[in-house]
Amino acid sequence: MEFACSHIVCNWGPDGADVSQLAPDYENKASLGRQMDMFPPPLPPRRFRKPRPTSLPNPSSLASQLPVTPLSLPPPVPPRLDLQEGGNNFKVNINVVSLRVGRLVDISQDAGLETFQSPVICGKCSAALSCLSSVWKRLWVCEFCGFENGVDESLAQVCIGQRAGVRSDDLYLPGKSEDDYQNLEDTMVVFCVDISGSMTVTTEVTTESGSTVHISRLEGIQDALQRTLAFMLQQSPHRRVALVTFNDEVVIYGDGTRTPLTMRDWALVDYEHIWKQALGYRVPHCIAETYQHLTNRVKELGEHGATALGPAALASVALASKYPGSKVILCTDGRANIGLGDMEQGNSTDSKYFYRELALQAVEKGVIISVMSFKGTDCCLADIGRLADLTGGRVNIVSIGTMATEIQSISEDNVLATSATATLLAPDGVYFPFEDEDNHKLVREIGNVTKGMEITFEFAVKPDYMEFCLERNTLPFQLHLSFKTRDQQKVTRIITEQRPVTTSSQILLGRLNVAVLAVHWAQLCASLTMDGRVKEAQRHLAAQQDLLRHISKLRPIQKEESIYGNWMETMTTICDDIKTESQILSDEAAEVVYQLKRASSINSNNTAAVQKKPLVGKKCMASM
Ligand SMILES: [Zn+2]
Repeated sequence: MEFACSHIVCNWGPDGADVSQLAPDYENKASLGRQMDMFPPPLPPRRFRKPRPTSLPNPSSLASQLPVTPLSLPPPVPPRLDLQEGGNNFKVNINVVSLRVGRLVDISQDAGLETFQSPVICGKCSAALSCLSSVWKRLWVCEFCGFENGVDESLAQVCIGQRAGVRSDDLYLPGKSEDDYQNLEDTMVVFCVDISGSMTVTTEVTTESGSTVHISRLEGIQDALQRTLAFMLQQSPHRRVALVTFNDEVVIYGDGTRTPLTMRDWALVDYEHIWKQALGYRVPHCIAETYQHLTNRVKELGEHGATALGPAALASVALASKYPGSKVILCTDGRANIGLGDMEQGNSTDSKYFYRELALQAVEKGVIISVMSFKGTDCCLADIGRLADLTGGRVNIVSIGTMATEIQSISEDNVLATSATATLLAPDGVYFPFEDEDNHKLVREIGNVTKGMEITFEFAVKPDYMEFCLERNTLPFQLHLSFKTRDQQKVTRIITEQRPVTTSSQILLGRLNVAVLAVHWAQLCASLTMDGRVKEAQRHLAAQQDLLRHISKLRPIQKEESIYGNWMETMTTICDDIKTESQILSDEAAEVVYQLKRASSINSNNTAAVQKKPLVGKKCMASM
C-alpha cells in the first residue's frame, strides 16, 4: 500500500475541502499573509495518543478519553501553499492509495514474510487480527468496525506477534493441494485471426533494401505470426499454441496437427454450442512438437467473407480456458458483423452484453484477451476493447511494420497470478468515492495479475465522522489480497498499516507523492470517460492540472512527473473532443483511453505499454 499523502485528510468532500469553515482562524490568516508565508507559524502541537499497553482493549470510543500528551513538536515546515488561492485548488482528493498488485503477488521476493495457516477474522467486517490489534480478556475489539470478537489468546499472540509498530505484512498459505499442481509452462496462447475480405487491403511498405512493395493485411499478419512462432519455438518451446480463424465461419485449427473444426450459420449464434465444441477440441501440444504444422496452416490462410469475430473470440476463450494464465490474441481489422456480438445488424445493447459476458467468463477461467487492430481501420475498439480491459489484456493499434514485435510482446508470458481479489478495509466512517459500495470495506475482483499492474483507490471521511477521526489521531488500513500463484497455490497477503489524520490546511503539497496521484488520476479519468461520464472527467482533469501546476511552483518537477502532465493533457484533448454523451470514441482515442486505464507509475520496474510509445502522436490527435 502506497499513499499519496503522509496523512489522511479528513475534511475532503465531493466539492473539495471546505478549509475556511474547518480550519481555525489563525490558519487562514497565516496562509494569506505573505510574510507569514516566509516564516510559517509553528503548527499547533499535534496530539498523540499515549502508547497503550497491548494488554488493554482498544474500544475506539475510549480513544478520546485517553490522556493526550504532546510527545514532540512537528519539525519546521517549508512555506505552505495558500489553499484558498486559485479557486478550485484542493478540489482534488489527495486521499489516494495505490496497490502495486504486480509486485505484491510476487511472494518469492518477500521470503521474510511471516506465514500463517489462516488469519483470525472479525465476525462483522472480516478484518484480520494484526499488529494494530490488541486482545484483552479474550476479547478483540475490531479496530475497523468496533465489533467485539472472542478470540483464543494464544492464537492471537501468534497473529499480533511481537511486531511492535504500525505496519505488518503477512502471508497466509493454506495447505497445498497436489491435484491442482500445474506446470508453469503449461499455459496456452491462442491466436484468433481475422481472415475476412477486408484483410485484402494493401499497404505500401518499404523493405530493408529500400524498395517499396504492397502487402495485404493478411500477408502482414501471416508474416508476423510466422516470426512469432519461430520466436516462441526458441524462447518457450513448451508453451502450447493454437490457431483459430474467422470470416463467415469460425475454424479451430488447434495446434494444426488435426482436422480443423468448422462452425458456421446457426452455430455462430449458439453460445453453449460454441463453448462446448471448442472445449471438446483436442488440447494443443507444445510448440516444439507442432511448429511445422502451425506454420503450414498460417501459410495456407486465404481471405474472404464477413467477420464472425464474436463467435471466434468465444471459441478461443473456451480453448484457452483449460489452463489458467493463458492468452488469447485477437487480431482484427473490422467490425464484427455476423453471429454473436454482431455490431452492424444486431442490437448494440445485445452485442455489448455479449462481450461483457465473454470477458467475465474469461476472467473466471484466468484467460487474458488482448485486442490488436490495424491502423486506419474501424473495428469499434471502444466496444471490443472491453474484452481486453476486463481481462487484463492490452489494446493496440498496429501498423504492418510493427505487428510482429507487438504480437511477440503481447504473447510473452507475464501472468503472475490468477483469480486475484483485493479487499481494502478502512475504519467505519471512511468511504470510497467512485466505487459502488458506500462502505468502509471495498472489494475489487482483479482476476489476472500481470507484471507491473497497479490499482488505485480514492477514499474520504464522511463529514459526520470527521471529529471522531481527528480525535482518533490515526486510522488503520488493511489490504487482503488473495490470489492463486502460477503453481496454483492459494495465497492471501494481508498488509496492515495506520496513518495519521489531519485537515487539508496542514498538508504540504510539495511533499505529495505525485506518482501515486497521477496514476490514479489517469485511471480514474480514463474510466469515467469510458463510462460516458465525460463532464466529470473534465472537471477532475482541470483540478488535477491545477494542483500539478501548484506543486511545480513549490519544487522542481521531476522528469517522470512531466510525463504525468502529458497524460492529463492527452485525456483533456480526448474529452474536449467528445461532444455528446453517447458519442463512441474513435479507435485511436479508445486505444489511448484503455491504456491509461491501466496506467502504472513510470519508475516502477515495469513500464506499461502506455509509456513505451508517445502517448498520442500528432497523427492520432489529428484524426480524432
Ligand atoms: Zn470488524
